[in-house]
Formats: sequence, C-alpha cells, structure tokens
Amino acid sequence: MSSNASNIKIINNCSKQYLFLEYIVKRSIKFIGQNNFDGLSCIVLEDANSLSIENLPDNIATLISQETRVFGYYSLKTESETPFIKLFVHEIYRGLPFPFYLTPIITLRMLVSLAHEISHHLIAENKLKFSGNDVDEEIEAWNYSKKVLQNLKNRNRFIFWHWCLREISSWYLAMGRADYSLKNLERAASNFHIAAQFDLDNVEANRNYWLVKKEISKLC
Ligand SMILES: [Zn+2]
Repeated sequence: MSSNASNIKIINNCSKQYLFLEYIVKRSIKFIGQNNFDGLSCIVLEDANSLSIENLPDNIATLISQETRVFGYYSLKTESETPFIKLFVHEIYRGLPFPFYLTPIITLRMLVSLAHEISHHLIAENKLKFSGNDVDEEIEAWNYSKKVLQNLKNRNRFIFWHWCLREISSWYLAMGRADYSLKNLERAASNFHIAAQFDLDNVEANRNYWLVKKEISKLC
C-alpha cells in the first residue's frame, strides 16, 4: 500500500495493522518541517514480520542480528537509488502499553525516530552543519531529535503526554534495575533501552543499556 501526501511518498509494508499509522507519519513530517524532506524519495514502513534482513545494509543487519534495537535507517544516495528512510514500526511501538497507541504519545515516538533519520539526511545534503565521525553523527542525530521534541513540547497539549512518556520511562528503568539484580541481562537490556528511548534525557537508562549489552557480549 502506498500513498503520496505532502510530496513525500509513504510506503507501508507492515504486515500488522497499526491504527492511523500513515496519518501519524504525515503529522510527524509536518512537525519536523516538510522542506527538510526535500531530496528524499520515500519513507518505507516495515515491522518485524515484513522485515527482510537480506535487503538491509550490512551495518543495520549486523546490529539487528546482535539484538540491538534499531528504529530505522537513512539510506544514502547511490548511483541507482535516491535517498530514502526506512522505519521499523514495531520498534517504535515496542514497550508502549496498548491504550496509549491511540494517544499523541505515539506521535511523539514517531517524531523522535523520524527526526533522527531526517537529521542524517540533512547532514548528507550539507543542510545541517556537522563535521565528525559516525559516532558523533549518531549523537548529533539524537540531539536533533531532542530539539524537535523540545519545540513540540512547548505546544501545550503535548506537555501532558510527554510527562506520561517520561513516567513510563522511569517504570522501565526500575524494571531494568530489578532484572539486572536478578542477573536477567537480556530483559534488563531491553527494559533499559525502552526507558532510554521513551525519555531521551534518561541518561542513566542509556548508560545502563550499553553497559549491559557489553556484559552480554562478553558472555557470548
Ligand atoms: Zn542514526
């Protein structure tokens, strides 16, 4: 299924139905600013069941095979392809209690993921000044997401939903700590990651996630 709105094509390959998904993506595009999407051919939406590892860039396939959470990626311009963004919808929804699926929280989640990827596009197109290595670019991309979110948080009706998201983040942080103390490292990593994603200012959750991932890789 595909649709064309605000000039950017959205290709929905998800096998599961996520209510109002394309509307949520279009809304996020509007909040980020349509002009930032210039030069991009499309946004592809995939979920766990529609995802084919063979068609992914090597670095993304490696991360997924290491069970590292990836929300999507930006595909650079090649000789045969124009740049596009792929979003892994199941990861964007992961951890969110179902009743929240129909609230503006999901727009906040989509917005953060899409803003991250669009910042890679802006850097590639020299529209966002940046000089550094790949790791720095990732940090820059999350900072860009934070900025977009900050602008939106100032819109009154999102303040409450952002507060909810931070609350849910703190529950996941607590669950991650409990799992870690029980030596359930996989679950601890998963909970710390959700906590870090639900609240980009949750530094402790982010730090714990990477520490636990390191611990898991040592055991392998
Ligand atoms: Zn990135």
